[in-house]
Amino acid sequence: MTGTVLIRNAKLVDGTGAPERTSDLLIIGDRIAAIGDLAGAEAAHVVDAAGRVLSPGFIDTHVHTDMTLLDEPVHACFLQQGVTTVIQGQDGLSYAPLSPDVLAMYRRYLAGLNGNARSDATWSSVAEYRACFDRTVSMNTAYCVPHAAARLETVGFHDVPLDGDALAEARRLLEVAFEEGAVGFSTGLSYFPNTYGPTDEHVALCEVAAAAGRPYVTHVRSVFDPPVDDWLAEGLAEALEIGRRSGAAVHVSHFGPKPWRYDRPETLLAPVDRAHDEGRAVTLELYPYPSGNTFLLIYLPPWAHEGGPDAILDLVRSGRERERLVREIETNSIPPFGTTIAYLGTGPDPEILGRTLDDLAASWDVPVGEAVLRLLEREDLVVGGREAPPSFPNRDALFHEQVLQLLERGDYMIGSDGIPVAQHPHPRTFGSFPKVIRLAREAGRPDLPALVHAMTGFPARTFGLRDRGELRVGAFADLALWHEDRLTDHASYDDPARLSTGIDDLWVNGEAVVQDGTPTAARPGRAVP
Ligand SMILES: [Zn+2]
Repeated sequence: MTGTVLIRNAKLVDGTGAPERTSDLLIIGDRIAAIGDLAGAEAAHVVDAAGRVLSPGFIDTHVHTDMTLLDEPVHACFLQQGVTTVIQGQDGLSYAPLSPDVLAMYRRYLAGLNGNARSDATWSSVAEYRACFDRTVSMNTAYCVPHAAARLETVGFHDVPLDGDALAEARRLLEVAFEEGAVGFSTGLSYFPNTYGPTDEHVALCEVAAAAGRPYVTHVRSVFDPPVDDWLAEGLAEALEIGRRSGAAVHVSHFGPKPWRYDRPETLLAPVDRAHDEGRAVTLELYPYPSGNTFLLIYLPPWAHEGGPDAILDLVRSGRERERLVREIETNSIPPFGTTIAYLGTGPDPEILGRTLDDLAASWDVPVGEAVLRLLEREDLVVGGREAPPSFPNRDALFHEQVLQLLERGDYMIGSDGIPVAQHPHPRTFGSFPKVIRLAREAGRPDLPALVHAMTGFPARTFGLRDRGELRVGAFADLALWHEDRLTDHASYDDPARLSTGIDDLWVNGEAVVQDGTPTAARPGRAVP
């Protein structure tokens, strides 16, 4: 057989969880054409992979590249981690289906999180938006239809229930989105306007996802009025209830260890175990870092978001309700204390970028809540922030052990939650996948078949990515070639923008996007499935 690429003597870790085996693999065009002893095969390009792992390319279940990929088709930060497919449309925050005026408004609102592309690409439907990423970028992209779009297109940016005709229309929008290739329905219940939706609304919308055989992808609710003891547990309980009542599979976003909230993950995850026992589909994801990355608007209370970005700016500039705003920002369930400024819409001002809100507040001699408001005002709301990692003795050892324990449960995958637009980024954007491999290696238990499965075959099945995530004849040739002792991350909180190393070669749909450790300019990524 004559192929495009012949990889010889690889240590095949095939993404199914099966034990590794030594094998050759032949790529013809965009597919895997043969696996086994291919002594007689020939190819235009032959790679001797002796001693190295050949796995499916990694599938990142949670990214914020919905704007950045429009401007930068090659994201080295993901390619050098071995990622060949990313799932966009996360946290219920994205850009389709949206009519033109609403799209322009919501692009402005989300710019502190995702940036706002310079690209003049336009779209309205999910099909049109997905097409922006088809054969124009290096990685494959899949898309979750976001809760925000269903609300904004029907009831606008308002704290009102979605019911009656508006709910019927929102359900119809979701039906069309699934017909046009959305792989899940996402929400983020620290974000707006998503948080305005009560549990019943989610159930009604998730019925559409269930009918399409697609999961409910949720950043669980964290804004409660009145505040509760443990919003993570409450938010998880709500997500599981929505899954049970609607029949939709539930995928819980970025539910990693939170050592400052609970020492024993098994207590928090007991409801997930019970759901499994009842035969319900519940999956989770994590990134291996102990704090998050978001945008400063998340700190404003629900009532302040009413009306959208123009109304927020008007409120912030007017000085109305200033004391109440400052107080409620500081008592938010996700408090701003310790947050580092990660992104500024006006550009990377060194006087502010990379400094903490507490530090800025001290130098401005104002409360932290007031500092948040001043930054939002100054930047037209476009400010990103990296949450402070918790600090307590032995943090990294405890946290890393919990990461490995969660992955060993078998219901976790990796979602980096990468935000490439950040000017002072979060290390998760650069290191999540190699870091997990490194932690397992350092702990002396690198179960590669299980780890690779969590990064490939498992997410492919969960999100219905056809012919991806497994090495088998006929599957798409999304492949990563790496050495298990050399694949590693370098990004840290102090020095975050360092690319991972150890991915020698990476193919997307049979085309090399990394060669000898260096990204190529190829753009073979498709809008999948
Ligand atoms: Zn996210």
